[in-house]
Amino acid sequence: MSQKEEKKKIKVAFPHMGDIYVAWATALNSLGVEAFLPPHTSKKTLSLGVKYSPEAICLPYKLVLGNFIEAVEEGADYVVMITSPGICRLGEYGKLMKTVLAEMPGDTKYIELELYDGFKAMYRFLTEISGVKNPLRIIKALILTIRKVFIMDRMQEKLSYFRAREINHGHCERIYERHLKKLLNCLSIHELGKIEREFLKDLQKVELDSNREVLTVDITGEIFMVLDSFANQDIEKELGRMGVQTRRSLTVSSWIRDAITPKLFKQGETHLERAVKFARPYLKRDIGGDALESVSDMSYAHFKGTDGLIHISPFTCMPEIMSQNIFPAVKEDVDIPVLTLIMDEQTGRAGFITRLEAFVDLMRRRKRKLAKDKADKEKTEAVAAAG
Ligand code: SF4
Repeated sequence: MSQKEEKKKIKVAFPHMGDIYVAWATALNSLGVEAFLPPHTSKKTLSLGVKYSPEAICLPYKLVLGNFIEAVEEGADYVVMITSPGICRLGEYGKLMKTVLAEMPGDTKYIELELYDGFKAMYRFLTEISGVKNPLRIIKALILTIRKVFIMDRMQEKLSYFRAREINHGHCERIYERHLKKLLNCLSIHELGKIEREFLKDLQKVELDSNREVLTVDITGEIFMVLDSFANQDIEKELGRMGVQTRRSLTVSSWIRDAITPKLFKQGETHLERAVKFARPYLKRDIGGDALESVSDMSYAHFKGTDGLIHISPFTCMPEIMSQNIFPAVKEDVDIPVLTLIMDEQTGRAGFITRLEAFVDLMRRRKRKLAKDKADKEKTEAVAAAG
């Protein structure tokens, strides 16, 4: 067998985090390497992860480990994980995971990508794993991957708008899933725009309830919890069903703009730049994870007039424990309803839904009261002006 054919047979697996698998699969498939998608995260994934993890470690670790165990069981040759020298446990994931995976049958190798080496790390990794030496092919694969990430984030934003207003619940979600599959299989940069346009066209055909009183809520917190629908118990879908349009400023595309895009190519204010500005009165430096963004997102949600903010964090996540301790100081200056959800493998579904419903109810009553107070004030002023 030629070296080239052998390379093509390599199975490379990445963990799930929301729909990010579409990006990983694109980068590998477009260079002729078989991207191996571990089964979508399920209760089985979680129980495998929990079984082989230290009890007090954060939920993202348990879910990623569960993904990797399933990938190894299904014959992956490599599992790839990002790492970071930051102030949280992400930098420790590799050491712990390697020990667990080394005990498993087979010869799966663990590869770590340094998060803040950005394009350089991706370029090196793709060249080594694919054997492709032509820099133009690698750059083309990276452009295709990054464009997909931006398109997915825009599609999710539109999905959130329509989902909160649709008459038949689940209709928009099905449209999104259909077009996501097309995006996954698309290896042509020119076709991407067409998929996005068709998705929008299909959404615009969905029957909407024009009388629904739609609320808006910003979702912030630890990035894995914010992006991964299994980890956050499909929070955005549930809120959509309750007539709430969600918005996240922590997205993979915002991370790409902040962490790995050279300054020269950045346009406008990035999420991190805005976060530093809005968090400054309460937090003056990065304390690890996404704590800075969480603190700033509360001020920003208030500034924008959003109806509420939901903060999601894994149990035992140090950076988010600190951000929660800063929230009361922010609350002294901003008046916005905040729901903090601390989640782990024990979080029950029924209690979670009840808390969401109660929060939505609170936001709705507050919004009506604010509207009534405003109308009363205008009436009083009009009477005073006439008299
Ligand atoms: S930010 Fe928190 S949850 Fe995420 S890896 Fe770090 S400690 Fe774990």
